[in-house]
Amino acid sequence: MAEIIDGKALAKQMQAEMTETVKALQAQVGRSPGLAVLMVGDNPASAAYVRNKELACTRVGIRSFGKHFPATATQAELEQVIKDLNADSNVDGILVQLPLPDHLDAIALINQIAPHKDADGLHPYNLGKLLRGEEGLQSCTPAGVMQLLKHADIPIAGKTAVVIGRSILVGKPIAMMLLEANATVIMAHSRTPDLKAITLNADILVVAVGRPQLITADMVKPRAVVIDVGINRITDYEGQSSLVGDVNFDSVKAIASHITPVPGGVGPMTVTMLLHNTIWSYCQQYGTKYN
Ligand code: NAD
Repeated sequence: MAEIIDGKALAKQMQAEMTETVKALQAQVGRSPGLAVLMVGDNPASAAYVRNKELACTRVGIRSFGKHFPATATQAELEQVIKDLNADSNVDGILVQLPLPDHLDAIALINQIAPHKDADGLHPYNLGKLLRGEEGLQSCTPAGVMQLLKHADIPIAGKTAVVIGRSILVGKPIAMMLLEANATVIMAHSRTPDLKAITLNADILVVAVGRPQLITADMVKPRAVVIDVGINRITDYEGQSSLVGDVNFDSVKAIASHITPVPGGVGPMTVTMLLHNTIWSYCQQYGTKYN
């Protein structure tokens, strides 16, 4: 049976450490780190994520500068808000909660965020740094996956890592991070003709697709490490809804060496790395090292 990689426990431990760090830095610097989360419209899933992020901020001592706009907010209005936040010395991190209503251009908004306040690591400047293997703000979910692998003592160098999914939010950055850690990286996606032929090579399999239980035990190499990024809400025949990942957890855990559950795996680490990025930006401002 696979060892379960407990993201919830690691997130709790890292957040407790952050609380101490923030307390000590706050005493030196005279202000707390600040994070501004911009949310537009009333998407219930986004509202829950934003609430979660703000609660986590409060827990570790980061001030929230959350702003909630009606679905009718204009591009110009949001760009001006980002400009103001860029200039606000109490704000260290800015993020735009995605998805946005269709009339808004998310990429153009992200490009307005000052790169040193880009808490989600999605600005082209920070993605470029990632591509070059340089230190910088890194996208939260992939950075969380790397922390999970590190804390579970999973060797990466020389291993074959297969990443399924090529989004700019998850698939592409995680592939770059694994490459930087000296894995041999293979990327698969919706146009990959024979997914199983690819996934069976993986010593480390990262799945970021958004298809409930796409990965079954016959697609996984025995003793592989399986990281399930997917979050899918499904409803059973009795009308009960629950969250599942992209991996068929029960069958795959019987052959994998390690596996992340959904919920309680990658999800809690995403929020934790957002806090990390905010503290990192804050420290950069005061010339303090924070890893
Ligand atoms: P996305 O829709 O932007 O990208 C999905 C990717 O999967 C695409 O690159 C596509 O090519 C690939 N794909 C689609 N169908 C496929 C198939 N049948 N076989 C192989 N590849 C296929 O999604 P995303 O933003 O990258 O998110 C992926 C999943 O991860 C979603 O379930 C999302 O909810 C979840 N997610 C979780 C967290 C977290 O904190 N745990 C954070 C971000 C995203």
